[in-house]
Amino acid sequence: TSEAMKRAERLSAIGQLSAGLAHEIRNPLASIAGAAQILGRAPALDEKQSRCVTIIGQECTRLDRLLTTFLNFARPRPPKMGQAALEPLLENVAALAEYRIGRRGITIERRQQGKIPSLYCDPEQLEQVLLNLLINAVEASPDGAAVILEAGADRRNVWIRVRDEGSGVAPGDIDKLFDPFFTTKENGTGLGLPVAHQIVGQMHGWLDARRNPGKGMTFSVHLPLQRKGV
Ligand code: ADP
Ligand code: MG
Repeated sequence: TSEAMKRAERLSAIGQLSAGLAHEIRNPLASIAGAAQILGRAPALDEKQSRCVTIIGQECTRLDRLLTTFLNFARPRPPKMGQAALEPLLENVAALAEYRIGRRGITIERRQQGKIPSLYCDPEQLEQVLLNLLINAVEASPDGAAVILEAGADRRNVWIRVRDEGSGVAPGDIDKLFDPFFTTKENGTGLGLPVAHQIVGQMHGWLDARRNPGKGMTFSVHLPLQRKGV
């Protein structure tokens, strides 16, 4: 619809403008972080002062991470496509996600339906997508819950699902999940899913979100097994 096109145009204009701004924020931010580091080495800081210096450093890191996510979204790099084995990739992603879980006792359960041939993708970007989905699943899950990472293939496509039994998404919010900046989290960026959606699309696949019949959500990445046009 023309309403959707207008929105896409507006987003792209805002995106370009703010990507430029984000880029400009980087240098002063690095200076602030560097200056805080030097201050932190001063010998005569009392406890309160050194805590302030630590906060400056931590918040600079947080802003820098946010800027990186944002810039990746506004200026995505083209995928470096190649054949990749799925199993080691999934293992790697599950390990990375577990590292991020900390002490919440959430387990990532790997499941697989049948044997999966190698697939045509950008492995690094696919890892990024799956990690984003897993982290969302973990963030939505109660302590001690399981998140399921399952993969399978039919003749043409590989599918990889991330399923949780967490808080789920309100029916009215389902359509907003892939909108940039849609977030229900206090410290969320609302960029994880739009970035994931964009990356999967660039790899000639698609990403969908469903509410589970019971509790929680299932996100599925679908990717073609073969290079398109071969
Ligand atoms: P962020 O995680 O920074 O909020 P995302 O784009 O990754 O941004 O996700 C957008 C929103 O979608 C989240 O704030 C949350 O409301 C919802 N969401 C995403 N994944 C899940 C999930 N597995 N369960 C419940 N809600 C989810
Ligand atoms: Mg997220």
